[in-house]
Parts: sequence; C-alpha cells; structure tokens
Amino acid sequence: MSRFLSSRFANLVAYTPGEQPRDQQYIKLNTNESPYPPSPEVIERINADEVKRLNLYPDPAGKSLKEKLAKLYGVEKENIFLSNGSDDILNFAFMAYCDEKRGVAFPEISYGFYPVYADLYHVTHVKLPLREDFSIDYKDYCNINKMVVIANPNAPTGMEIGLFEIEEILKSNPNYVVLIDEAYVDFGGTSAVGLVGKYPNLMVSMTYSKSRSMAGARLGFAIASKEIIEDLEKIKFSTNPYNINRLTLVAGEAAVDSNTYYKENAKKIIATRETTVKALKNLGFLVLDSKANFIFARHDKISGGEFYAEIKKKGILVRHFEKEKIRDFVRVTIGTDGQMDIFLQKTAEILNER
Ligand code: PMP
Repeated sequence: MSRFLSSRFANLVAYTPGEQPRDQQYIKLNTNESPYPPSPEVIERINADEVKRLNLYPDPAGKSLKEKLAKLYGVEKENIFLSNGSDDILNFAFMAYCDEKRGVAFPEISYGFYPVYADLYHVTHVKLPLREDFSIDYKDYCNINKMVVIANPNAPTGMEIGLFEIEEILKSNPNYVVLIDEAYVDFGGTSAVGLVGKYPNLMVSMTYSKSRSMAGARLGFAIASKEIIEDLEKIKFSTNPYNINRLTLVAGEAAVDSNTYYKENAKKIIATRETTVKALKNLGFLVLDSKANFIFARHDKISGGEFYAEIKKKGILVRHFEKEKIRDFVRVTIGTDGQMDIFLQKTAEILNER
C-alpha cells in the first residue's frame, strides 16, 4: 500500500481471480468458461473493417444490442442495462443501492466478489449460512430489509433455488433490490426474467462469459424494471459511459443472432456434465446437484487442496477454495467430452495412487 492511497481502502482485500495461464499447457477447468469457441458469425463480424473503426468511440447507449436482447428476452430495451462483464453490474448495484445504512445480504458460500464489493463501498453486510445440504434457505432473506444478492444457480455449489422462493424474497422486501445473479442459468436453471414485469425491485444479471463463449470480450447485461435501469445508467454515465467497446458490441449482436448455436452448446455441456457426475460418483465422489457448467465434488480419500495440486501436476487446472466449510471440495468446469475423459482418467489414477 502506498502512502497515497485513501484510508478508505486500507483494509480492503481484493478479489483473487482464478488462474489464467497465458500458454496452452493445461486443460483449463478452473474458471467456468465455455470450452467451445464463439459462433462462426461472431468470428466473422469482428473483421478488419470493424477493427478499422476503432478510432471512433462506441455507442454509449448500446442501442442496437439492447434492441436485440429485448426481443430475445421479451422485454423492452428500457429494461436492459449493458455492462463490461457481469462483475460490472455487481459493482454498479453495490454502488447504487447500498451504503452503511442500507445493507446487503448474500449467502456465506457464494461468489467471492460479493463481500469484496461490500467492503469496497463500506456496506454493512450479512453472510447467511447455507443449509447442511448446501441449499439456500429463502426464509433467511424474507423481511430482511437489505439488498439481497443471490447467485442462481449458486457458485461454487451449482445448486438452484426455485422461483417460488425468489418471489417470497421479493414480496417481503419491497423497498430493497433483490439481485439474482444468473451467470450460469443457461445450463438447465430457471430464470427469474419472467418476473421482472411483476416486481419493480427485481434485478436479474446475466453474462456472455459462460454459455455464450465470450469471457474474453467482457459483456454482461441486467434485466430489471425501468426505474432500476435508469439508476444504473445514471451511475454508468457518471463513471464510464463507454464501458463496452466497439468490438464487444458487435460481437454481442452477432451472439444474439447465433442463439441456436449457443443453445446447442449448452445442451452438449449439460450432457457432458451428467456423464461426468455419474463417472465421479462411480469413483466414490460426493457430487452436489449442479444446474451450472461446473460441478462441486469431494472424495473421502483426498482433500480438495491435495486433489487440486495433484491434478495440476497431471496437466489439469481445477478450482479449490480455502474457505472452511468447502475446503474438502473442488470445483470442476465442464469441458468437452474429450477433456472430461482425460480429467476422469487422471482422477482415477490419483485415487489409485492412494
Ligand atoms: N457471477 C458469478 C456467480 C460468477 O461466477 C461470475 C464469474 N466468475 C460472475 C458473476 C462474473 O462473470 P463475468 O464478469 O465474466 O460476467
């Protein structure tokens, strides 16, 4: 820390992203990217002509991408906010809706960025424990009188909470935003987007980083009531109006046009997930019920940390969290069938060596 840094950030512990090695030496199953490339249309539209226009600023309103998304999700373009990855949405939501008096609640075991944003903005926050089986008890969030942030499916568990539960949370906190983070919803989850017309306090965030194979382009979006979107736009236009670059806007539009391609990929990933879960269970793993493009599993024979280290030596990156209640687990992103075959073979070797 330099002597120049504001004392507001003296105790801030920054988020640690998963490992992103620059070479191709690993099979990368650690940060929940898609193993499939962007659609041919996306690749084609990011062409030399588009690159030649990089001297010009992008459209700060992202109008034509919003129009396409609105059509796809059955809402109006005024219900959509575009962001630089969905982390950007979380950032804006914590900035806009929380402070020392208006607090926030989220699950104790969830996306590691929530507590970082809470600390960044000095927001009073409560981390609510999961049930024994790692599910979220919605009653803990009812009448809580704070902003609520829930990842659905949750990360790193992959487990889902139902729309009935979400509606109860929304109804009982009418004066607070309920942010449902649907980064992983396209892998068999249930979206709350259909509830946006009914609940002005609902905000759903989604990303192009997972099911749409564009983690490197950084594009996310939120769907919410017009009131909420106006708040987010106000903050965006007061911080960084050009938060999405020209190439990403073009890629985003092409991605919406390629919806069928991405749906097929999601189907493949779900099928690979199911065969991987079965195979891991046969090897003696306990695997949580996942609706995401990753699985969360543990084995009595080996700790999460040891598994992570041993499979890394064999050329595969997975994710391990040091947090107490999940230390025994590893999170494994679902890759292609070929990648998962190698993962399963190396996993069996590790267990046999014990
Ligand atoms: N929410 C959850 C639950 C996530 O796991 C992630 C990615 N790790 C994000 C949001 C943010 O993803 P991105 O910024 O790439 O959209």
